[in-house]
Amino acid sequence: MIKVTDVQDTQSSTNPVIREMSEMGHEQIVFCQDEETGLKAIIAIHSTALGPALGGTRMWNYKNELEALNDVLRLSRGMTFKASISGLNLGGGKAVIFGDAKTQKTDALMRRFGKFVETLGGNYITAEDVGMTTHDMEMVREETKHVTGIPESMGGSGDPSPVTAYGVYMGMKASAMYKWGSDSLTGKKVVVQGIGNVGMNLVKHLTEEGAIVTINDISQERLEMVAAKYRATIVVGDAVYDVDMDIYAPCALGASINDDTLSRLNCEIIAGAANNQLADEVKHGQMVMDKGIIYAPDFLINAGGLINVYSELHGYNREGALAKTKEIYNTTLEILKKSELEEITSHEAAKQIAQNRVSKALAK
Ligand code: NAD
Repeated sequence: MIKVTDVQDTQSSTNPVIREMSEMGHEQIVFCQDEETGLKAIIAIHSTALGPALGGTRMWNYKNELEALNDVLRLSRGMTFKASISGLNLGGGKAVIFGDAKTQKTDALMRRFGKFVETLGGNYITAEDVGMTTHDMEMVREETKHVTGIPESMGGSGDPSPVTAYGVYMGMKASAMYKWGSDSLTGKKVVVQGIGNVGMNLVKHLTEEGAIVTINDISQERLEMVAAKYRATIVVGDAVYDVDMDIYAPCALGASINDDTLSRLNCEIIAGAANNQLADEVKHGQMVMDKGIIYAPDFLINAGGLINVYSELHGYNREGALAKTKEIYNTTLEILKKSELEEITSHEAAKQIAQNRVSKALAK
């Protein structure tokens, strides 16, 4: 991670961005700016070893440029792992746009972003992420064909969130099988934190199976809507970490598994959709393991959306995408076994399998 002090260090002859790039193994970082539309964005291509770098665009009101840069570097590397572990012929990339998606996003800004994507000639393929809609992808499509997640009416795969939620549900069931010897979630107490596009679809699967679901979100309106629709219980604010639960499903933003929350969380499984759930992959991955909690690696179980958009590149087939997403169940079991046998964290076990595939491709 690049720190403010790294940037301020005028004595150092090493550029902190280039140093971080080589440490994390990124191929390319593109900084984009357009005065007319106010666009400020960063596109990070981590790897193209397995194929073009595909990853969504996130629009977020970052505190500063450094926060955005660290986010895009970490997210793009996660995409490499995600594509690799899912057996897809794709590399890893991601883009971030600075600003408030509700007030600062315009069609012109999205089109200008599309022009930048076009300059990369297909090395980077974009898609939706937080703060984006299928309409935004339509705007990007006006300027480049290197975009997925366009509306179904235009021959695309539409909103990937239901498929992502299905994959998370499969990963959660596999974790239950591993922990309890049965993958039934009936009667299990599950807390879903963040009931946006993915979280709400997950709540649907869980309540249909008879799980006892508690929901948490910063939007009161959303909480009331989902609670009424699926008969879920609401918990407000960070009291979410003190709820009596069997399974914690982080589906908001990253880093919710940290020193503070781990001292409070009382659960047996963590399985959710958010990217980069472990604030520190090594430290918190180990702490989770030491507490006897089964952790389903985020980049593995939230790959459904990627699998869905990957299908779009080859002529979209919903059934095929769902069948491939279902495989997350067996891959989760495989990784949990490897983790136990080799006494390494499940995150590390998943990373090793993902990295091996990339290394083999590079060696060819
Ligand atoms: P979304 O924006 O639709 O939903 C996020 C929800 O989290 C919102 O309802 C928001 O109010 C809530 N939230 C934000 N901060 C919170 C906080 N501190 N506490 C509680 N709730 C909070 O996003 P989404 O598409 O549902 O994605 C959810 C997560 O899953 C993100 O981390 C995203 O990167 C990841 N993910 C999504 C997909 C996909 O297909 N959409 C695929 C892979 C990973």
